[in-house]
Amino acid sequence: MRPPTEDRRRPMTRDEIIRWLVEQDSEALGSLWRRADEVRREHVGDAVHLRGLVEISNHCVRRCAYCGISVNNREIVRYRMTPDEIMECVRQAVALAYGTVVLQAGEDYGIGREWLTDLVRRIKTESALAVTLSLGERPDEDLAAWREAGADRYLLRFETSDAALYERIHPSLPGRSSTRFAILRRLAELGYEVGSGVMIGIPGQTYGSLADDLKTFAEMDLDMIGVGPYLPHPATPLGRGGLPEAPPGEQVPNSELMTYKVVALARLVDPDANIPSTTALATLNLKDGRELGLARGANVVMPNLTPTKYRALYEIYPDKACIREAAAQCGTCLSGRIEGMGRTVGEGPGGRRHS
Ligand code: SAM
Repeated sequence: MRPPTEDRRRPMTRDEIIRWLVEQDSEALGSLWRRADEVRREHVGDAVHLRGLVEISNHCVRRCAYCGISVNNREIVRYRMTPDEIMECVRQAVALAYGTVVLQAGEDYGIGREWLTDLVRRIKTESALAVTLSLGERPDEDLAAWREAGADRYLLRFETSDAALYERIHPSLPGRSSTRFAILRRLAELGYEVGSGVMIGIPGQTYGSLADDLKTFAEMDLDMIGVGPYLPHPATPLGRGGLPEAPPGEQVPNSELMTYKVVALARLVDPDANIPSTTALATLNLKDGRELGLARGANVVMPNLTPTKYRALYEIYPDKACIREAAAQCGTCLSGRIEGMGRTVGEGPGGRRHS
């Protein structure tokens, strides 16, 4: 296999990516981690950007077969934060010197176009924070209005590039046919920085399809790439074993090691992207999962600013890391971890750099 130090400009082929995904030799993997870390330093530097995450609502109209806040889960209490509660989180983000606030929710039409437009304007008037939205497959008019109001970035994972697997885990809404890829293209046209990504180890996901996902990241030249392990939620069809695994030897495991491989390969295929070391990774390894993600290609972390009374209700998968810590504790813990690695905490919005 081509060591990741050779012929750096030639894009990795699908077969090379697959060989890395199945690689088990720790020395070979060490060379992958080192190369991803070098490319991360060369392209996005040593700063680790902190994006304060506010989970503004757990209402959702979708029936995603893996997600704990799907409309099908009638066991959870639903909440929607008020604008004043969200602004309080924004003030905390400013006090903790974060450069970005990320507003995430289920696909919740209780969050109306005007409601969010006013909120984005308020955040942009009262702070210098970049605003990232992660609100699902919203209509074009909503996305345009929010961009117009000052929203900077939008996150929408395509989850898997295998169209048949995608269909199986995303029952469509009546009368809605637009694909996530079409929405991602539209977001770029509207001038958003665009983030996408996948879950790793979805039942039925093969190494070939995960390699296609990585090729897709490169082709789309994404500004942000978020990848994390699929974590089964017992109150979902997938968590109850509702989908068969790929044949033996082809099923991607939803493991910590596989997640590091995908983070490292994402860095190599799209060197300028902002790549978070995700909470799902920290959930698999609370002790040092975040640090290992940062050492193997990632350059962003997303400390949780959601008020603790809501955090446990945003249960997309069980046992999510850091659901009890208050915002200030999260911030101090993460800054300490970053500095402990010899990296620096990023200043300002930390948008996509183009090299
Ligand atoms: N509604 C928005 C959307 O669909 O993009 C944002 C919220 S959604 C809960 C955010 C992400 O959570 C999804 O893109 C998915 O990758 C991740 N997620 C949901 N359920 C998960 C699970 N069981 N394991 C791992 N990640 C999960």
